[in-house]
Amino acid sequence: MNGRPPILLNPGPVTLSDSVRKALLHDDMCHREADFAALMLDIKQRLARVYAEAEEEFEAVTLTGSGTCAVEAMIDSLAPRESTTLVLSNGVYGERIAAMLGAHKRPYVELRADWREPMALDRARRKLEQAIDIGHIVAVHNETTSGRLNELEPLLALCAEFECRLLLDAVSSFGAERIDFSHPNLDAVASTGNKCLHGIVGIAFVMARKRLFETGTSQADGLYTDLFRYQAAQVDGFSPFTPAVHACFALRQALDELERQGGWRGRRARYRLLSRQLRERLDALGVAAYIDDDSYSSMISSFALPRDWDYPALHDALRDAGFIIYAGQGDLYKEMFRICTMGDIRDDDLARLLATLERLLCA
Ligand SMILES: *Cc1c(COP(=O)(O)O)cnc(C)c1O
Repeated sequence: MNGRPPILLNPGPVTLSDSVRKALLHDDMCHREADFAALMLDIKQRLARVYAEAEEEFEAVTLTGSGTCAVEAMIDSLAPRESTTLVLSNGVYGERIAAMLGAHKRPYVELRADWREPMALDRARRKLEQAIDIGHIVAVHNETTSGRLNELEPLLALCAEFECRLLLDAVSSFGAERIDFSHPNLDAVASTGNKCLHGIVGIAFVMARKRLFETGTSQADGLYTDLFRYQAAQVDGFSPFTPAVHACFALRQALDELERQGGWRGRRARYRLLSRQLRERLDALGVAAYIDDDSYSSMISSFALPRDWDYPALHDALRDAGFIIYAGQGDLYKEMFRICTMGDIRDDDLARLLATLERLLCA
């Protein structure tokens, strides 16, 4: 055919670029050797400068696991035992964070919004006015459930007003959306190497304010999820546990590509270009966007299932044409599907996708 691999239109893992795939063939490396330590320090530095405002005050603490591992390490290490944490959820990932707080027995309140709606900022304000012991807020930046990019500005303003620290799940936005690392109330941001950064699954990270390690103590009850342990070992580039070495090869190459492609702004522009064409074409084909068009992040879109199609039929027809789309989560499986433009998706790939959609939906 066209020599292209299956094009992944799910929000991570992504279709790799050829050079990231080749980086996986690097010679084997022991993680206790100096060459690995140099690689890890290089990755940490590159992660810290994806957002120029982060470089001075934040440290990228890496760990081996998927995005959930980074989010849980952030929660376990930083959510206090003595004060309440407020979770603003409007999708699967926010609700997962509340479950983590419960699992680690931290006092928390969850304000749940419908999966199609914005975060409940008004209810949060009322809660903050009543409750005096809320010290932290946790939220999801790009809620992958719907593709909604939750607004950080009003959230950070609320944190400033009520003197709360923000912990952010930016698993599907770090590297491609604006994150205001200069805001004094932002404490930590969890993400992974295999979504907007275009590496492979295996290395995740938390961008945490350096001061937390200097003056704070870990709240962690887990060992593998204790960020303070990783941070201490990584001063010299090492890791307390065996890291996903090959994922590091891929991530370094992917970060190099991100820099050469214009950093997070360049990536956002590329994603937007692809998403806009996709949503316009589907709109013209009568497939409705699932939330307001201007609420979407740059790369995740969700759509109501077209008339006469259930998800398996649409999925299989697209898979036969070389594209992997993504189902709605939970009950949404029956009513919507998602298409994500992360990864090495080329102009030709998009053109083929749009032509395929047109062929299927106009038949
Ligand atoms: C993907 C994702 C996660 C979880 O990451 P895994 O790699 O699947 O563990 C968490 N939060 C958000 C917003 C995500 O998109």
